[in-house]
Amino acid sequence: MTRKLKHGQYRPLVLVAFLLSLCHAGQAQEAPGARPSTSSGGAVTLFQNVRIFDGKSTTLSGPRNILVRGNKIERISTDPIPTEGSATTMLIDGGGRTLMPGLIDAHWHAMLIRVTPAESFGDVGYNNLVAGAEATDTLMRGFTTVRDLGGPTFGLKRAIDEHTVAGPRIFPSGAVITVTSGHGDFRQLTDLPRTIGGMPSRMEQLGGAMVADSPDEVRVRTREQLMQGASQIKLTAGGGVSSPFSPVDVTTFTEAELRAAVEAAENWGTYVATHAFTPAAIQRSIAAGVKVIEHGMLMDEATAKLMAEKGIWLSMQPIPEALVLGFPVGSVQRAKAEEVWSGIGTTYELAKKYKLKTAWGTDVLFSRALAQQQGAILASLTRWYTPAEALIMATSTNAELLALSGKRNPYPGKLGVVEEGALADLLLVDGDPIANIKLIEDPAKNFVLIMKDGKIYKNTLGR
Ligand SMILES: [Zn+2]
Repeated sequence: MTRKLKHGQYRPLVLVAFLLSLCHAGQAQEAPGARPSTSSGGAVTLFQNVRIFDGKSTTLSGPRNILVRGNKIERISTDPIPTEGSATTMLIDGGGRTLMPGLIDAHWHAMLIRVTPAESFGDVGYNNLVAGAEATDTLMRGFTTVRDLGGPTFGLKRAIDEHTVAGPRIFPSGAVITVTSGHGDFRQLTDLPRTIGGMPSRMEQLGGAMVADSPDEVRVRTREQLMQGASQIKLTAGGGVSSPFSPVDVTTFTEAELRAAVEAAENWGTYVATHAFTPAAIQRSIAAGVKVIEHGMLMDEATAKLMAEKGIWLSMQPIPEALVLGFPVGSVQRAKAEEVWSGIGTTYELAKKYKLKTAWGTDVLFSRALAQQQGAILASLTRWYTPAEALIMATSTNAELLALSGKRNPYPGKLGVVEEGALADLLLVDGDPIANIKLIEDPAKNFVLIMKDGKIYKNTLGR
């Protein structure tokens, strides 16, 4: 749910952000290991005496030793693993702590966390720098991968991959594609009428959202995102909470328009995800070949059944109530937010009943304080799932969703699991997160080591 961008109407969210930041000031710390340690770069790390949450199993393993070479897990053993003993081998005494896969947020907006809605239209240099700082904090919260569902993230992703700035792996969608009046159309009424082939609006110049009003236009905009490196394509198939001109009940793109995006994405070996709350928007998306439904909070039983039959993914977010309360009482947005929010429980129940492939994400926007709650939002899943189920969802299940990007996957290899041959994105947790999922709410304290791609970004052991 992309929220309000119109000037003046984001103040409640900022207020919420401010209030939450007071409660969690302790987490707004400098990342201790913002740069990867050189000692493990491309070299060997041996974790000794750790218990493993492998991303799939509901229980921890017994004591194990794990050898990471380069960016992959090479060996997992109950027996001691010999090393060459060279200076490039780093030994980590796990002391019986838990080693688990790095967390994955399946619905993130890396460019739209720390800026205000008004600032998101402003200075590109500033926006990229604050997004870089937030990306470092995201990694320091234990999130080693994010699936980005809209925003100009290509430059940030490149800077992270080149080690200019520390951050998670990013699976970018690039600009959200929407229709005139649709969710994601942040123009003002004074910007109308739109001329096809005319000057792009500010949000389009920035690559935040693109308006497309025919199958041909959808095809162009989709291909432009793919050309820039999108790993999946995001369209808004229905109305949104914060958009001024899109009531929640509306269905936006025609089936032919959605199909144009699906064809263009599939030609590139990847897929389309749509923002959709209502049965009508979800069903039209599925008819057009869309593979992933984002949100789905107003779905009904028949739609859940259809999603199960067709193997469609549900990418859900247990949105915190604080976000709903951020909209002014009596406003249209507040009413829409409450309607959507009240559907979260029903949708999770339907997802469980029909065994939908369900991914977890946060969809945090315009709030550094809420971003600091990323782990807590994951832990809040225990309203509907066991702690083990929640952790499995944020690791191996989310990784399965990422793999839908096929050849457009920017990071080929296995994510979200601790097994031989998988990419070495690992967290060393001081405690057992299955027994006490609240550990993930305080990553600064409880994640004593954070590794991404075989490199250590944080290590407080031995301090
Ligand atoms: Zn979103």
